Amino acid sequence: ATLRATRIKRTKTVCTFCGVGCTFEVWTKGRKILKIQPTPDAPVNGISTCVKGKFGWDFINSEERLTKPLIRKGDEFYEATWEEALELIANKFQEIRERDGADAFGFISSSKCTNEENYLMQKFARAVIGTNNVDNCSRYCQSPATTGLFRTVGYGGDAGTIYDMAGAGLAIIVGANPAEAHPVIATRLKRAHKLNGQKLIVADLRKNEMAERSDLFLRPAPGTDHVWLSAVTKYIIDQGWHDREFLTKRVNGFDEYVKSLEKYTLEYAEEVTRIPKEQLIQTANMIYEADGTAIFWAMGVTQHCGGSETSTAISNLLLVTGNFGRPNAGAFPLRGHNNVQGACDFGALPNFFPGYELVTDDAVRERYEKAWNVKLPREKGLDNPGMVEAIHKGKLKAMYLMGEDMAWVDSNANHIHAALEKLEFFVVQDVFFTKTAQFADVILPASPSLEKEGTFTNTERRIQRLYQALEPLGESLPDWKIITALANHLGAHWCYEHPGEIMAEAASLTPLFAGVTYERLEGWNSLLWPVNADGTDTPLLYTERFPFPDGKAQLMPTDWVPPVKTGDEYDLVLNNGRLLEHFHEGNMTNKSRGLLYKVPDTFVEVSPELAKERGIKDGSLVRLESEYGAVKLRVIVTDRVRGNEVYVPMNSTNEDSAVNLLTNSFYDLVTHTPAYKETRVKMQVLQVE
Ligand code: SF4
Repeated sequence: ATLRATRIKRTKTVCTFCGVGCTFEVWTKGRKILKIQPTPDAPVNGISTCVKGKFGWDFINSEERLTKPLIRKGDEFYEATWEEALELIANKFQEIRERDGADAFGFISSSKCTNEENYLMQKFARAVIGTNNVDNCSRYCQSPATTGLFRTVGYGGDAGTIYDMAGAGLAIIVGANPAEAHPVIATRLKRAHKLNGQKLIVADLRKNEMAERSDLFLRPAPGTDHVWLSAVTKYIIDQGWHDREFLTKRVNGFDEYVKSLEKYTLEYAEEVTRIPKEQLIQTANMIYEADGTAIFWAMGVTQHCGGSETSTAISNLLLVTGNFGRPNAGAFPLRGHNNVQGACDFGALPNFFPGYELVTDDAVRERYEKAWNVKLPREKGLDNPGMVEAIHKGKLKAMYLMGEDMAWVDSNANHIHAALEKLEFFVVQDVFFTKTAQFADVILPASPSLEKEGTFTNTERRIQRLYQALEPLGESLPDWKIITALANHLGAHWCYEHPGEIMAEAASLTPLFAGVTYERLEGWNSLLWPVNADGTDTPLLYTERFPFPDGKAQLMPTDWVPPVKTGDEYDLVLNNGRLLEHFHEGNMTNKSRGLLYKVPDTFVEVSPELAKERGIKDGSLVRLESEYGAVKLRVIVTDRVRGNEVYVPMNSTNEDSAVNLLTNSFYDLVTHTPAYKETRVKMQVLQVE
């Protein structure tokens, strides 16, 4: 028994799936994963995990893992050595840069990769190639939330911790489905609701699990959240329920903001949103009476043409009611991927260096130029949609993409595929041969989280270390090693031996992370940014001041952006999102036997009234068609959706059912996040049985 025990290795890791940031021990024996063991030491989840964190790890040993570099030859790929692959990439990058300049390159970083790897990817783009064309998948999801917070309170992150979420007197969830997409946060909220008297309001098109449990379920017309949020805020001010002292001492712009709310009467809101006036008054009452209001939101808000405006409206409501800078209250955008927060924090964005310092700020740029000993580009770069359009226009020729399946997850997939086909040279670095990899010229095999060290930052801004449980499979390598090797093939002299050295460099350059060190993050320790040089961190933001020159927050008037219109023949509203059992498009969870067995493929949820009208039932096969593409799906009839609204989960196992073949090419007006939630489709019944 002792011998057996000594061969079992226990390694602390951070979950690779959602942004909750659960930590636990993974028990391994050789390459075999014996079990996932949560512990009370875990700061976010304690002894909880969800089904993905517990059972979603088969993909690590999948036979489909990439284990060698691959180089395209015609329509095929052949296995190559690392040296051959890196040499080819370096030569081709040099050739394109000399001929077309640095801005002919695009870099897509990854919210599945560590902070250190994201730091290196933006450094590679800026310092080695010389462009700010670098972005990450927050462009698909959370950029509007970040913008709404930047504009008003100054930091693009959750206001407090998971304890503040659970401690709030009132939790309002808007356009998010935490019971499936952020399960451990949902567990905390369920417990707070059941045992501690927390009140719960859910605003969503779909009657999800949290809506079933809520004290009040608001069901707005699609794309109208901004209107009801503004109307509730106006009503609160009209009743004199706003926090006068907080507004006077800590907030600018109240009078102008009040004027901007004039049109948002309860009557107008009822007409636009179809939420009964009484429910809006009840919402205002509940906020007024609550001991702390926390608002949670996700892609039901952000993936609209007005995603930034609605996110701003949420922050405005919280400011008006004094719900920032105090425990158990505030804004909580729920980050999707495990490190989408960190990918942004560490500068994988076209306009920001790490720590959200502008690339156009001369003083900041000079700091990086001095540290990196290069001249850096002065103009902001292209974001993800900007890069796609630049490819279509023949201006962007080469792309280096790390850990992102953009052919599958970007909106209007057919448009993306056409762009990727036009690239002159495309490097994909991933754990699997993804849909996107099919378009690549060179594919580099990367190691997933269990095979490397680093840090991830969760939705609370909490930075946590992960340790290496397994050796990299085959010849795969951690992404930070690959980027370093490639940089050195292009003449850089990077000599990182360990991710801790990368973090030390980032911390030395970035005030937001000044006191972050691997020593302070040892074991189960964690730090929530901003982290001062002495190592004190900030679990609760804005207690003394907001990060603006005068220390005050800014109320920002915004207007409702109505959803885009489509031809009348597209008579159904398409909603989409995650399922508990699958993560995102499913390229990891589809390889975990238990999860795939439980939910083998995607489907379309149809309301009982629509099913009756079209003569379909559970299991019927339908074809959904939008202006952009078509898919075939099996039907589930459920009252989770209503009327002409249909819902398709974003995971899929085959190319005929990927929801993004349907989604559109409209964008949030400020951040260019695709308006995934503003797609309309028509339905053709293929088979009733
Ligand atoms: Fe992983 Fe999220 Fe589940 Fe936690 S809640 S175990 S972070 S998928």
